Amino acid sequence: MATSLIQFAKKVGLSKEQLIARSAALGFDIDEKATELEDDLAALLSEEFKKEVSDKADTYGEIVSQEMEKELIKKQRKKTAGRHGVKAKDDSAKEEVIVKKGIIEIPDFISVKEFSEKVGISPVRVIGELMKNGILANINQPIDFEIASILAEDLGVKIRRKHSAAESEDIMRGDLEKLLQEDDASILKERPPVVTVMGHVDHGKTKLLDTIRDANVVASESGGITQHIGAYQVEKNGHKITFLDTPGHEAFTAMRARGARATDVAILVVASDEGVKPQTVEAINHAKEAKVPIIVAINKMDKPNANPDKVKGELAEHELIPEEWGGETVMVPISALKNEGIDKLLDMILVVSELLDLKANPNRPAVGTVIEAHLDPSLGPVATILINTGTLKVMDPVIVGATHGRIKIMQNHTGKRFKDLGPSGTALIAGLSKTPQAGDILQVINNERSARQKAEEVSALIKEGKIQNMGMGLGEIVEQIKEGQLKTVKVVLKADTNGSLEAIKQSIAKELKSSDVAVKVIHSGVGNVTESDVMMAAASQGVVIGFHTDVPSQAERMAERHNTEVSVYKVIYELIDDLRKILSGLLEPETIVVELGKAKVLQVFFTGNNEMVVGCKINDGKAEVNSSIKVFRDKEQIGIGKAVGLKLVNEDVKEIKKGTECGIRYKGKIKLQEGDVLEFSKEETRHKTL
Ligand code: GDP
Repeated sequence: MATSLIQFAKKVGLSKEQLIARSAALGFDIDEKATELEDDLAALLSEEFKKEVSDKADTYGEIVSQEMEKELIKKQRKKTAGRHGVKAKDDSAKEEVIVKKGIIEIPDFISVKEFSEKVGISPVRVIGELMKNGILANINQPIDFEIASILAEDLGVKIRRKHSAAESEDIMRGDLEKLLQEDDASILKERPPVVTVMGHVDHGKTKLLDTIRDANVVASESGGITQHIGAYQVEKNGHKITFLDTPGHEAFTAMRARGARATDVAILVVASDEGVKPQTVEAINHAKEAKVPIIVAINKMDKPNANPDKVKGELAEHELIPEEWGGETVMVPISALKNEGIDKLLDMILVVSELLDLKANPNRPAVGTVIEAHLDPSLGPVATILINTGTLKVMDPVIVGATHGRIKIMQNHTGKRFKDLGPSGTALIAGLSKTPQAGDILQVINNERSARQKAEEVSALIKEGKIQNMGMGLGEIVEQIKEGQLKTVKVVLKADTNGSLEAIKQSIAKELKSSDVAVKVIHSGVGNVTESDVMMAAASQGVVIGFHTDVPSQAERMAERHNTEVSVYKVIYELIDDLRKILSGLLEPETIVVELGKAKVLQVFFTGNNEMVVGCKINDGKAEVNSSIKVFRDKEQIGIGKAVGLKLVNEDVKEIKKGTECGIRYKGKIKLQEGDVLEFSKEETRHKTL
């Protein structure tokens, strides 16, 4: 039996010529003079055409079965072709032809399916190659860039890492690590060091920054007038140095807590007449914890009672040993007031940074960090940016934290404008739609529309409270210890006296040394738990422990915001015991129910399936988004639900306080009525000693 060629062509919606041409492309040679098709060839062709128009298969099973079918078809085709005296084209040859030419960009993670589409090799072959490498993967499984590289080599295709457009969460968390990854070290170029000045209050940090800035302004740039934009760059012996103009470890650690990497070298300013003070120690610990090398500037050398040797002795107690005493810490005597020793200090910054081998890739779209931001009366939202890698250009569309825009103006601290800015460069930028926050990550995006979309995603994530800061709650710490991922619990320790601090430190050293997981006291001090303590613990994903100290509400709020555990003890034994339990992964935080407040239903606005919108007045305490609701009617509890949204006038808000009328989006089976009383509560996991 045979089928009429013309009729068949009609059936599949093509002319005879088109059918012959398309069949040839599929690997079936049909004689132009032929009028008929063998039935089995017709069956194969109709199968092929059906496949051509069918949707792309997107499950493993579908594709595998299609691939199996293809194998069958191939076998059959050979048979049929033999009978027709035509040569069947080899599929593998066809596959090689469609292997994409050139270098293919692959992101950090890619599914097997996407990988195979990108390189133009069937998923079955890719899965096969993975198997050869001992990796069992299905079609939707993500593989990382390293595995993709191995595969690419085996398959003979060239790939390179795509500079990932950051996920919204990464942008918000400031996951620079991921953004700065480069697979090819040879493209990296040297970049200037970024320096932060730290030290005790009044030891001369601001004066030092001013002296360096003012002494290095090129007069022609702006007639010598400089403005504080949060960062500036100077040149010394043909090398640039970037200074962050907000002194102090608080700003430094706040940035670090957000995941920002904005310092290569720390200058520790110590007044030669006063020596090491509590904030000097804090600064040392903050820099050490961030693994940032310290250069000591012994300041106020012009003072008659300057005593640099005493300062060196005190610093040595904190493991900063001067080079001339056989240590490794560079110490430069200076007078910021008299501009003495500053040249030597700049030289030393260059020497120390050379050892750090600081590099970045100037030839890629920029990634930067916001150092400062504010609303300018004439320019609108402006931000001082530090470029971590790449080059930022005027007119680049960018996303910065939860905002976006296009770079309209870039200018430095002297008001000088420029069109591009390379790694470690800093500039005030204008052109953003809203004011970002210090520590936000800037990223250049292909076009303004995607930038806006991403900024909206980030905003939504913030609103939903899905983005947490860098800190790690106790539950997570215990979990990670259990899984063997965490080997050190970092502790910021505050106590009422030096005596108790020492006693606790000794107990920790003596009683907790046998565990697999160690306790590391990254900072200790006398006094209340401060915001700076919480920030340091958050940045290091550790905990704060207080002993006979208070936790002022600002510090408490910061701990909550940064998801960081603060526990206060009155008995050393209990403190040690709890630490021991944490180390052995035994201390589970307990879940407690916190009563929040009450409201009365005034009006029902909308009733849907298990969802309602009601107008309420908060009569007691407060209501919070996502709090649980107990519904009371005539003083009797009749059901439960959840407050999935809160509205104040037309604004979505996270919480509403006593005395306020508001709209509540309620989820629950019970249909609310006017006059019902709602009781709000939420579950919290807490350390039992809190
Ligand atoms: P900061 O709190 O660390 O930023 O300290 P400042 O830079 O504000 O300086 C505190 C005070 O010390 C100011 O009155 C400065 O003028 C003064 N000061 C700063 N550096 C020197 C110095 O090298 N010599 C003397 N004599 N005074 C200085």
